[in-house]
Amino acid sequence: MSKGEDTFKKIIAHCKEYGFIFQSSEIYDGLSAVYDYGQQGVELKNNIKDYWWKSMVQHHEEIVGLDSAIFMHPTVWKASGHVDAFNDPLIDNKDSKKRYRADVLIEDHIAKLEDKINKEVKKAAKRFGESFDEAMFRETNPRVQANVKKIDDINARFVPAMEDGQLSDLKKLIEDLEIACPVSGSRNWTDVRQFNLMFSSQMGSTGETASTIYLRPETAQGIFVNYLNVQKTGRKKLPFGIAQIGKAFRNEIVARQFIFRMREFEQMEMQYFVRPGQEADWFEYWKEQRMQWHLALGIPEELFRVHKHEKLAHYANAAVDIEFDFPFGFKEIEGVHSRTDFDLGAHQKFSGKKLQYFDPETNDSYVPYVVETSIGLDRMFLAVISHAYREEKLEDGSERVVMNIPPALAPTKVAVLPLVKKDGLPEKGREIFDRLKYDFMCQYEDKDAIGRRYRRHDAIGTPYCITIDHETLENDTVTIRERDSMKQERIPAERIAEVVRQRVVVRSK
Ligand code: ATP
Repeated sequence: MSKGEDTFKKIIAHCKEYGFIFQSSEIYDGLSAVYDYGQQGVELKNNIKDYWWKSMVQHHEEIVGLDSAIFMHPTVWKASGHVDAFNDPLIDNKDSKKRYRADVLIEDHIAKLEDKINKEVKKAAKRFGESFDEAMFRETNPRVQANVKKIDDINARFVPAMEDGQLSDLKKLIEDLEIACPVSGSRNWTDVRQFNLMFSSQMGSTGETASTIYLRPETAQGIFVNYLNVQKTGRKKLPFGIAQIGKAFRNEIVARQFIFRMREFEQMEMQYFVRPGQEADWFEYWKEQRMQWHLALGIPEELFRVHKHEKLAHYANAAVDIEFDFPFGFKEIEGVHSRTDFDLGAHQKFSGKKLQYFDPETNDSYVPYVVETSIGLDRMFLAVISHAYREEKLEDGSERVVMNIPPALAPTKVAVLPLVKKDGLPEKGREIFDRLKYDFMCQYEDKDAIGRRYRRHDAIGTPYCITIDHETLENDTVTIRERDSMKQERIPAERIAEVVRQRVVVRSK
């Protein structure tokens, strides 16, 4: 097992043991790719939502929120292209009976070639030291060049096959690249078939009056169909944005990797409506802004990378993925897309209603262009906990597991811990807890030795533990222990809120 896989297993086990994430319907052996968030998980998730909402809606006066329904008129999904084109190409291995996404098999193959290139570059950088010219090396090294050519050759076949839905070309490519099933090791593949990812159900009573209804596969369409309602009632001028957090559903073919790919998940999306022709500038702006949002949490920059889309979705004229270095490698966490007027134009056509904006500056009516930022809440959660999970050896030889969660996102901000359960310390502890609980999520605990309580709070990522001892009763001071450094400091009880607040607030654009 690779180091990454091993760490990933430990993170999943940790999430269950400490009440972050449970498998859905576990007592019935679970439901594949569906998860429940436990007592710690729900707090972390809410804090991520809150951080996103504040930075989008509260800090941008031109952006407002929305909460649209999961069910929408079925024609919405016809107009958006999801009924006809929201397909994944699937392929089965006849020996292992495992099902794969054909495009993902090819993308993984490309990623391996990219890895080879990066290893070569790293090796050379080490060898040449300061004088290393990376760009020059990439252009001239024969091994790097050979792999770059291989990638280009694959893309020259892969991109058109995906764009035109040429399933037999995809299969041929998989065969020519000699891609084998990771489970059986064989190359005994079925043909590639299209599979629509939308869940459908019936609305209304059975029979003729019932109609097919879909669970939304993205939250964005709820924003598009409401854009004029918001613009008119909010008297918004371009550019302006609408933000929404909500559930989305996709019948994913390959649903592995814990909460990375789920069948029921949550998205945080923002559509920014702009004047046509200005979308390229706004696309750059939002790409930059979203990167800053991630970095403001203190997660190191090298864990992120930006991947430009070579093959663009039918609606986009520019797109990037922000990728995160998960324990299983770099994968998409967020997309920033320039969606042109595709969606609004399509809804205008299918609904027969004008969706134009009257621009008082140009005295002109037009359908705005849209730049969208779309992040998976669950993937963000996974990024935070994978980065946070640490096993540390301490100076005294003992070990601890600590969740280095950014303090602003930590489920519990302060633990109030009387040193012993007697002598009036619990009463004093309760008094402090009751004061703090209106400002922060706090926990009061007086069971077990203090060391064990510290460990428990390290394991759920509580940034501060407050210890009440006999001296507290004399002079109203407490010790405050910081999670990461484990440093303890004695401060007046009345300063607790101020010290905690300094670290649990993030200021991002
Ligand atoms: P992928 O290529 O990984 O399937 P996508 O490109 O289809 O993702 P988008 O349609 O751009 O994803 O959705 C926007 C965001 O929603 C993604 O960046 C991701 O964070 C999240 N997301 C998409 N599908 C899932 C899923 N099945 N489970 C969890 N999050 C998801």
